[in-house]
Amino acid sequence: MSIQTVGIIGAGTMGNGIAQVCAQAGLDVVMVDISEAAVQKGLATVAGSFDRLIKKEKLTAEQKAAALARIKPSTSYDDLKAAQLVIEAATENEALKIKILGQLDALLAPEVIVATNTSSISITQLAAKTQRADRFIGMHFFNPVPMMALVEIIRGLQTSDATHAAVHELSTRLGKTPITVKNAPGFVVNRILVPMINEAFFVLAEGLASPEDIDAGMKLGCNQPIGPLALADMIGLDVCLAVMNVYMQEFNDSKYRPCPLLKEYVAAGWLGRKTGRGVYSY
Ligand code: NAD
Repeated sequence: MSIQTVGIIGAGTMGNGIAQVCAQAGLDVVMVDISEAAVQKGLATVAGSFDRLIKKEKLTAEQKAAALARIKPSTSYDDLKAAQLVIEAATENEALKIKILGQLDALLAPEVIVATNTSSISITQLAAKTQRADRFIGMHFFNPVPMMALVEIIRGLQTSDATHAAVHELSTRLGKTPITVKNAPGFVVNRILVPMINEAFFVLAEGLASPEDIDAGMKLGCNQPIGPLALADMIGLDVCLAVMNVYMQEFNDSKYRPCPLLKEYVAAGWLGRKTGRGVYSY
């Protein structure tokens, strides 16, 4: 089955970015959210992103109009019936995602593939809640979706080779580079990234260097575009701590213990850019 229409659930940060790259790749998109305001906000974000591409002469006004015309905004799941692939990018909440997967099972033809963009919920566990476990897969895009080249494709224990092949091919058609990962907490990128950030907090807590020098060290010594502490402030210190807590619980290995200084900052409400103060002040 060739994929020409993609359904997207959630028009938020990730959903509208995924809608944009699908439409730019010539696919038809149905983007569904719970309110008209939410879908229109998502659509406006895509239009704004296209305008920036036009300014940079990477897109023409005609291409913008054509791509926008391929995105159908909707508040009705019924419109997803047109899709051969549905990507779930709703709020990160397991009960909500299980409810949505149940709605999709009742609605979609059996051969339709369902992918989830979850960052932290087990693909194998979600697959077990659907009636299409072999046609269920993780498709983990990175933020901002139009800028970031990577898609982690996560195979649950039940995912079929045909499902993997179809989603791998589609990711390439979107201009992304897919990597294939077995289901495990944090997949590959966050499994490595977040413990690195946690270690940067240990280095800071031990007074080995200033925040600025720790970040400069990793930027200049490892060619990272942003230092780990500045990145933590962008991600949110609460999110970093929550992820470490999940690894600690799931792997039961002390190498994942959250740094006490990270916990202390979160307890103080110093969550990073979003609260105006994290490791740095904004
Ligand atoms: P967001 O809050 O920006 O958007 C979520 C959207 O889902 C909202 O517009 C909300 O109204 C909508 N929604 C809630 N319930 C719904 C329902 N029943 N049906 C349809 N829409 C519904 O969240 P986000 O940052 O876009 O995250 C979405 C998913 O992507 C999460 O699973 C998250 O873990 C994952 N993710 C996020 C990032 C990131 O950096 N933000 C990166 C990778 C993956």
